[in-house]
Amino acid sequence: MATNEFAIINHYFEKHKMATKRPDVFLGIGDDCALLKPPTKQLLAVSTDSLLAGVHFPADTSPHAIGYKSLAVSLSDMAAMGAEPAWVLLSLTMPDLDEAWLSEFSAGLFQLAHQYNLQLVGGDTSRGPLSITIQVIGFTPPGLALTRSGAKLGDDIYVSGNLGDAGLALQMHNNKTSLSLSDQEQIQQHLDYPTARVNLGIALRNIASAAIDISDGLAADLAHILKQSNLGATIYVDQIPLSSALQTIEKNTAWQLALSAGDDYELCFTAPPAKATQIKEIATQTGCSLHKIGSIIAEPVLNILDINGAKFILEHKGYMHF
Ligand code: ADP
Ligand code: MG
Repeated sequence: MATNEFAIINHYFEKHKMATKRPDVFLGIGDDCALLKPPTKQLLAVSTDSLLAGVHFPADTSPHAIGYKSLAVSLSDMAAMGAEPAWVLLSLTMPDLDEAWLSEFSAGLFQLAHQYNLQLVGGDTSRGPLSITIQVIGFTPPGLALTRSGAKLGDDIYVSGNLGDAGLALQMHNNKTSLSLSDQEQIQQHLDYPTARVNLGIALRNIASAAIDISDGLAADLAHILKQSNLGATIYVDQIPLSSALQTIEKNTAWQLALSAGDDYELCFTAPPAKATQIKEIATQTGCSLHKIGSIIAEPVLNILDINGAKFILEHKGYMHF
């Protein structure tokens, strides 16, 4: 039994049975700092995200899902940059020493870390309201990172996967639902265990002109690309990919969720029309569906059009903390 924070760190994090040992870690958990050997010819990509109960996940989320999702949201930032993740730091604040919770949380975290051969190299542990902060460090060849500012006039706009499932799952939490049991399970899975599109991001180096991950809703996140690229876009709601669950609900609600509910962690990217064939091949290679939803225009506005070519009215702008 782990009786203090050092024993917790040792048992649940440093010596976890799924822990990976990478050759580029000179010194991992256990000293005042980790010592890392960055590759000489690449840039480091660094990102951090905090998850708070009740803000980033419903309070009744399973500890396994919390562990998985905490890492997945940071990996999603790596994916959006076309970076290859390598090292992870974890700052964990929890209200008490609950070993069953820690065991599940670390299993969820290491399940995903193992999948991408990531090593947990350090962190911090303290007592307080539940909060998880994860930092991921990865690599990207100079000149190949996918930034938000690279979209060009005439580029196609794509999204990966389906949008709106996480939003529908959150809505289902608060309301009665007429969804079938299997649809309910599918969207719940999407909310709790988002897939970070790491391999897609790497495959899009040299192909995409700009990229972002969709954490706050497609409309809000695409707007970041447009602002930083000084351009605009026209997108078509009926081109937005929806899961079978979302296709069963009323169309306007489905599109509202797909455009402005957050938490999907799919990628939105732009690419010249000449890359369309290569993008189809990447979809096959990575097993991730890619849909063209519109194009980049000169006027700095985001036009969202419905099936009849009329303006689609967004009810919410996307998730904002403040
Ligand atoms: P310090 O007092 O120097 O901050 P700590 O006692 O916080 O050291 O941590 C001891 C070691 O354990 C350090 O190597 C730190 O990076 C690591 N560590 C602490 N908490 C965690 C955690 N939750 N996950 C992974 N490593 C951790
Ligand atoms: Mg510390």
